[in-house]
Amino acid sequence: MRATDDLAIVERLAHRAVELAEALLREARAQQTADEHAQAKKLARMMADPHGKELTIALADQAFRSHRPERIADQLAYLLERYGVPQYMDWWERVALLLGGAMAHYLPSLVVPPIVARLRHETQNVILPGEEEDLRRYIEERRRAGVRLNLNQLGEAILGEKEAARRLEAYLTLLARDDVEYISVKVSSVYSQIDLVAFRATVAQVAERLRTLYRAAGRHRYRHQDGRITPKFINLDMEEYRDLDLTVTAFREVLDEPEFLPLSAGIVLQAYLPDSHRVQRALTEWALARRARGGAPIKLRIVKGANLAMERIEAAVHDWPQAPYETKIEVDANYKRMLQYGCRPEHADAVHLGIASHNLFDVAYGLVLREAHHVEPWVEFEMLEGMANHQARAVHARAGGLLLYAPVVRAEDFHSAIAYLVRRLDENTAPENFLRHVFDLEPGSPAFLVERDRFLAAFGIEARLSDAPRRFQDRRAEAGAPPVLRPLHAVFENEPDTDWTLAANRAWIDDVVRRWRERSHDRIPLQIGGELRTGPSQGDGHDPSRPGRVAYRYALGGPADVDRALTVARAAQPAWAALSIAERGARLEACAAELGLLRPDAA
Ligand SMILES: Cc1cc2nc3c(=O)[nH]c(=O)nc-3n(C[C@H](O)[C@H](O)[C@H](O)COP(=O)(O)OP(=O)(O)OC[C@H]3O[C@@H](n4cnc5c(N)ncnc54)[C@H](O)[C@@H]3O)c2cc1C
Repeated sequence: MRATDDLAIVERLAHRAVELAEALLREARAQQTADEHAQAKKLARMMADPHGKELTIALADQAFRSHRPERIADQLAYLLERYGVPQYMDWWERVALLLGGAMAHYLPSLVVPPIVARLRHETQNVILPGEEEDLRRYIEERRRAGVRLNLNQLGEAILGEKEAARRLEAYLTLLARDDVEYISVKVSSVYSQIDLVAFRATVAQVAERLRTLYRAAGRHRYRHQDGRITPKFINLDMEEYRDLDLTVTAFREVLDEPEFLPLSAGIVLQAYLPDSHRVQRALTEWALARRARGGAPIKLRIVKGANLAMERIEAAVHDWPQAPYETKIEVDANYKRMLQYGCRPEHADAVHLGIASHNLFDVAYGLVLREAHHVEPWVEFEMLEGMANHQARAVHARAGGLLLYAPVVRAEDFHSAIAYLVRRLDENTAPENFLRHVFDLEPGSPAFLVERDRFLAAFGIEARLSDAPRRFQDRRAEAGAPPVLRPLHAVFENEPDTDWTLAANRAWIDDVVRRWRERSHDRIPLQIGGELRTGPSQGDGHDPSRPGRVAYRYALGGPADVDRALTVARAAQPAWAALSIAERGARLEACAAELGLLRPDAA
């Protein structure tokens, strides 16, 4: 087929998607309940009240994360004083918050628990209670409505192996329930010591936990409403960029083992990472080969990505480029490219697709692509519980099914749901996000036209969209290269940290470690005024990774060495004082460049 024909097809499908998005929106609005309407209205008021939004995030993040009523009371009072009572709340909520803030200080253990209970109640449509009876009732209700569920067990932060074991146990308990079909797991919640420098050791640990989970999934059975009986399904959620390679590697390696060939399991890719399309292609090639060996299909959920703020902070702190694309239009274009690739019948057969989005234009595009390629059995739609349930119902009706992602948390762990809540709040209110309009979007409205144009514009850049990673530091390439000296008067920039997310850097450090392991231990002399001296005594240096062994010996100076060092420094002082600021800068730059060259030996 010629490229112009391809373009004409894409254009036709895009315009059909716009019509379908409009229909979905109409259908959603027609069935919005009064409660959903009120919730959306409150969100719209929050958007017009930036202080209120800030306070809500700060309350969630700083006050309600704590277990201790005194701490919550203290923060509540402090934040109310700092931000004032949010205008977007109803009057009675404002009064309650004010009273609570004032009284909590005096009677924290009496006043705070009802406030936290109220917060839990308010967020119950987004985060479900994990208590046995409540959960059973909820699952049953959804099953009656024909909605399939993907449960995500939220819990405490995983700082140590005890917590990781507890979370693994919670996942296994969920898998063992008759009424649970599908769960989501984060690799960072089953292994606490993720360290990318020790990449292979980390993969081995994560793989061990995955085996435990996959064995349980294969052992337990779920009876679907149509009578089919299948193993349970486990999906690996994707978190930060640094987890991408680790998650994909562990996923592939374990599913390649003969024991797990018959098992179908899922993984997520985030379209805001340019790399994701390359990873999608590699995963598809691999899944096709696995299928040819008699293996089960895998499933890929395609999302845009929920950790943009965190990625930006990570990039700023380490002086790296931001891993996700810089603009929304690029993310939207990559999302479409990934849907198009995933919906090709020759791919969808081996890599089933979950199209996860709340953007009705992208959902509609997925529906249109699915129909055009006749891949309905392998492509499903996924949405988040409680975010825009009227829209979810409309998508459910059009798609003939829906997988709802439902986070679950027990009362005692509620504080750990805060990160999830903050991410959802951010999604609902970020300037270019579709959900921002959940209240006022109607066909033909200005907001609708903006979203429609945003959707169509992404097709225009798809052909020239890069899929190259935005982080590409390679310490190996720096070896032997001449030092890079910045021009005088250049603005100060930090030296970027080594990025262990990147395989090239991990290969580099592996080489360095190998070299150092083979080295007999050094004797490090004193160096005073350019002269190397042994000193009167010496100390032993230890390497914590090899306890009990001396890694190196270093010379210790005596009083004569201290005197000599001071004399040298004093003699050098007039020359240093005579240097201009720029000349001093140049010397320091030269030192930095020299240290950079020695990085393999100083890393
Ligand atoms: C069922 C389900 C499961 C999910 N699982 C995961 C998961 O495992 N991992 C994960 O990370 N996320 C996950 N998400 C969240 C998802 O990544 C999106 O954040 C969310 O769905 C919003 O995207 P959208 O397509 O619905 O809406 P849209 O409003 O079209 O897109 C919003 C998204 O665009 C991107 N964006 C917005 N502004 C910019 C900008 N200026 N520059 C660059 N990018 C920008 C961000 O990714 C933002 O979230 C899941 C979502 C759903 C529905």
